[in-house]
Amino acid sequence: MGGPARVDTTRRSRCRVEAFNGVVMRMALLVLALGRASGSFGGGCGVGPPWPTGSAWMNTVQKWIRDQLVDHGRKLFDAPRERVRFTENDEADSLLNDLDQFPHAFVLACLMGRQMRREKACLIPYRFQQKLDGDFSIGRLAALSADDVRELMSKPEPLHRFLNVMSVVFHAAVCRIVDHYEGDASRIWKGRPSSAEVVHRFREFEGVGPKIASAAANCLARDLKVPFADYRSIDVSADVHVRRVFGRLGLTGPDPTVDRCITWAREHNPEFPGLLDFAPWDVGRKWCRPANAQCECCYMRNGCPAAKTGTE
Ligand code: SF4
Repeated sequence: MGGPARVDTTRRSRCRVEAFNGVVMRMALLVLALGRASGSFGGGCGVGPPWPTGSAWMNTVQKWIRDQLVDHGRKLFDAPRERVRFTENDEADSLLNDLDQFPHAFVLACLMGRQMRREKACLIPYRFQQKLDGDFSIGRLAALSADDVRELMSKPEPLHRFLNVMSVVFHAAVCRIVDHYEGDASRIWKGRPSSAEVVHRFREFEGVGPKIASAAANCLARDLKVPFADYRSIDVSADVHVRRVFGRLGLTGPDPTVDRCITWAREHNPEFPGLLDFAPWDVGRKWCRPANAQCECCYMRNGCPAAKTGTE
């Protein structure tokens, strides 16, 4: 469940906000520059904070970038719950948004998200529902054998590129929900558990690594507004967009690994590292494309080293 619900503002209004943010950033830099010129920021007179130079200057810019990422993530987190667009299919989205009746649909969709686009993986529970004549109850799923699941997942067309592995994962997940959660998958997240506990519970499902577990917890917390006791154990989901934008913004080295993005986010927003992936994901999809980045429309442009040096 790599991506969260997206705030669907128009590009024009977004650009206006970004332009405003840019003005604020330029004014801040101008004030600092005037302060340096006049000696009012340090400069040996001992008045005010020292003028940032070298790595300190980089830290100032990096802090501004980090604050932008936090602000955008926080706005999404604080927004009221809206229907999440998991797929392009309204009925599939209804199934996945219905955490009261079909919490297992959300869990199964998360588990299917291996080596496959999120939109396609999230369709799999709905495809099962169609094939089971509309009955996606956990009881109906529990009545399926491993062979039944494989059959449903393979015909008439394969629902997943790793058919054998993922049909085992699907069947094992249904068994686990029945055996460990009395058939109610919402017990994974009910009662304000800690984020560490939720991530751990997802990781106990067969085939689930830290990336899927953290993305599932992030989607529950940020998009589906499920309250947790804390958010410290939810990491960024560092997909290609997040990694590219982290690199261009100079937060990490160029072409950072997934682990580097995760550790940077943990260090710079330890209370909720996963909050820092929405903005770069969004920027990466809209403007910071692999080629021909549209920096003129990106709200990061005033602090972005790649935009300044033309190395985007
Ligand atoms: S300013 Fe340009 S290079 Fe920097 S993050 Fe935005 S689109 Fe990417």
